[in-house]
Amino acid sequence: MTQRLLVSLLTLLAVSSNSIAGEKEDKLIEKLSKAYGGEALTTLSSYKIVDHFLAPTAGQSHSPSLMEVSSSRQVLQVDLKNNRAIYDTWNQGRSGAFQGSVISDGEKAYTINYQAGTYGDANNADPHVFAGGSMRTSDTVLAYELTKARDKAVLKEDVSFMNRPHHVVTMPFPSSSDLNLYIDAETSLISKMVRENPALGDLSYVYSGHTKIGDLVSATSINFFVDGQPNLISTKHALTFNQPLDASSVTLPSDLSAEGQRIDTSEMVINKISDGVYHVGQNGGFSLFADTSIGTVAAGGYAGLTARLKSFAKASGRFKPLSHQIVTHHHSDHIGGLGEAVQLGARLLTVDDNVETIKKSINPEPTDTVFYRSGPRTTLGDGRNRIEVYEISTSHASSFLVMYAPAEKTVFIADHFGSPFAKGLPTASSSSVEMFNQLKKLDIDIEKIATAHNARIFTMKELTDSAAAFKEVVCSANRPVCL
Ligand SMILES: [Zn+2]
Repeated sequence: MTQRLLVSLLTLLAVSSNSIAGEKEDKLIEKLSKAYGGEALTTLSSYKIVDHFLAPTAGQSHSPSLMEVSSSRQVLQVDLKNNRAIYDTWNQGRSGAFQGSVISDGEKAYTINYQAGTYGDANNADPHVFAGGSMRTSDTVLAYELTKARDKAVLKEDVSFMNRPHHVVTMPFPSSSDLNLYIDAETSLISKMVRENPALGDLSYVYSGHTKIGDLVSATSINFFVDGQPNLISTKHALTFNQPLDASSVTLPSDLSAEGQRIDTSEMVINKISDGVYHVGQNGGFSLFADTSIGTVAAGGYAGLTARLKSFAKASGRFKPLSHQIVTHHHSDHIGGLGEAVQLGARLLTVDDNVETIKKSINPEPTDTVFYRSGPRTTLGDGRNRIEVYEISTSHASSFLVMYAPAEKTVFIADHFGSPFAKGLPTASSSSVEMFNQLKKLDIDIEKIATAHNARIFTMKELTDSAAAFKEVVCSANRPVCL
């Protein structure tokens, strides 16, 4: 047999097996469509998803010894016929509350910050992109999406879920990894959806309590798991169908003002504080580096520490190895770069309570000798270029280490205060006020504030004024998320 003939035969086989597989998928999607309401599903004109969740603070708790629970609400309204969407969110935790919206008329979308009274560009007007997380909480919406994407659906091997046979269908979803839908072989309803996240593991959505709502069917509960652990626990999951949104509901309220210019952090940002002290970072992960008599001392433990250290050395011409990495607190995002610090030969300055959490986050697990225990006030290096480290406590973290460069009158903090904008007074949260009071108590001379998440260097005056202007956040009564 010639090679060309072999290739043709193989191509033919692949095509015919594909068309058989396509038929199987079509049959299954037909059954699923019927189970969810048939024509009522395929001709759906609008939907509203109301979700109230309890949210265990995995990796973001006050102290490593207790995972407390915060609450999260989201309401998504999508008018498929008129191409309009509104996404409302309300999150409440120990560090304060935040209310936001995205409104889209199909062409243009805006984000709204109610506390600041501002609006900004949402970059993308497609609800799949700005509210995909909310769309995925509804099995009915996923069933609808599957009927629209039936040509791209791929049937996989059957599995057992909750001791019941399930078909598994994979479908693409914009701005997401593929969705794997687990469809009950008997009822043809979706029991589970899994999508993979390379950093976090499997993201699983479990739908239960399916019931009829008008001519359609929807789960009445949805719980969300990250790598098998509960992340969002449903206390309310309510769907409404076919109630259109009028044009005024996606028009910006007139009492809002345009937000300021955001600082671009897509490239490495290098802020020179003095010849030996620099604030360096990219994409919301920043570190403060200081050249001291014992080596380079840093705070800010986001992943990418090695690249930030290199940028510091290049910009400052100071090439001392990283001797100490100050661990601000135990939250998972702020310890993501500590494995790099250990690789670079640094010791990790932290408190006893956080050692176990940090150890578990590093692969291979470091030995005890890597850790350098911090007291209420620890000094690294000597003379004018020394670094002082202060332990404080706020409702954000039971133990928080503040890096202080006395010669530069500069502190480095994380999570309590900040703004992505180039100008304007940052909006304070209740934890900004706590941070202000704690820094005041230290009785040290502070002029500049560098942070873990923002490119901008703030002033102590800005923190003072921002804390003084703090107002408790109240959910705006006219938004559906507050009801
Ligand atoms: Zn934090």
